Amino acid sequence: MTRPKHMQVPIVRELMRRLRKHAPLPVPVRIVQRRSPRICGDLVLGYCHRTLKGGPKPRARRFLIVVEERLSLGEKYEVIVHEYAHCLDRVKRPLDVKDCHDSRWGACYARAFRASTLR
Ligand SMILES: [Zn+2]
Repeated sequence: MTRPKHMQVPIVRELMRRLRKHAPLPVPVRIVQRRSPRICGDLVLGYCHRTLKGGPKPRARRFLIVVEERLSLGEKYEVIVHEYAHCLDRVKRPLDVKDCHDSRWGACYARAFRASTLR
């Protein structure tokens, strides 16, 4: 199977443009590529970090997506769409959700994936 032209893996800058345009977040999201990103000491392929506004309810101020810089473009694409879905999911949601890949995240993933295929 070959991907149709509009679904070919875009470079990171183009992918982020598509995500911001077609699945916008109400706060800024920035992406950085790093060597050997870690969460609590564990090596990961990528993660998203949310900075919170003060107040009783968690509301995001901005997001940072970190992706392993040594991945192939196709792997980065997978990781970034996955992490962007966490950003969409976590704008208002607490972080201590039991299963952070539940159906609510899955719906956000579908939105992010669809956005990644649009120009
Ligand atoms: Zn995840």
